[in-house]
Amino acid sequence: MSVAEQLQAIHADIAEAAALVHKNPDDIALIAVSKGQPLEKIRAAFDAGQKTFGENYVQEAVQKITALQDLAIEWHFIGTIQSNKTKLIAEHFDWVQTITRFKDAQRLNDQRPEALSPLNICIEVNISEDPNKTGIAPEAVLDLAQSLTALPRLKLRGLMTIAKLTIDPVEQAFFFDKMAALYQDCCHKGCAFDTLSMGMSGDFALAIAAGSTCVRIGTRLFGQRKTNHG
Ligand SMILES: *Cc1c(COP(=O)(O)O)cnc(C)c1O
Repeated sequence: MSVAEQLQAIHADIAEAAALVHKNPDDIALIAVSKGQPLEKIRAAFDAGQKTFGENYVQEAVQKITALQDLAIEWHFIGTIQSNKTKLIAEHFDWVQTITRFKDAQRLNDQRPEALSPLNICIEVNISEDPNKTGIAPEAVLDLAQSLTALPRLKLRGLMTIAKLTIDPVEQAFFFDKMAALYQDCCHKGCAFDTLSMGMSGDFALAIAAGSTCVRIGTRLFGQRKTNHG
């Protein structure tokens, strides 16, 4: 299938999952994860109507963002933040979904160019408390969220998580539900959130069932990626 056909099939699946929880599919954002994918495929997805893309590796991303400046793309950074890369991230991205430390947020805030609107951010949560996963502990989320309100060049939009690597849908659903409960708790305690980012190629329907408002899909849309990134 072409990228355009895959995109259509993904939208159909999102609509089906959304209908089960009585949600408008337009309220679920689709991030096309283009790491390890060539420019032609990004252009093909854009031409088919996809306007939001996610990248993990700063060097690779900046090259692509520069090469695709003619396209009105909203770029999301979804990789691990390295302190020496925050300036490039602040200059090139519209969103950063992977905030885990106040220190990184402060650098992004200070380095966000005046000419650009505030950088949208999400806190990345290690909801399964897996020692091999990035993200902060669920108990630490509210404190970090409150401290981030001091940074005027950032706009905290919500929470993000990467699901545990498991093929057990019951276990996956358990952690998606836990994440949704944490998100609701933050909202009740005063956080003005509108984004719960969870669900990837293999598990996005389950994530939507649990309340995801933003799914991040790579291989299902573009096919296998090159693992060798610059
Ligand atoms: C790579 C990546 C994705 C996309 O994963 P697929 O399984 O290819 O859909 C989503 N989110 C994050 C944070 C990623 O790093």
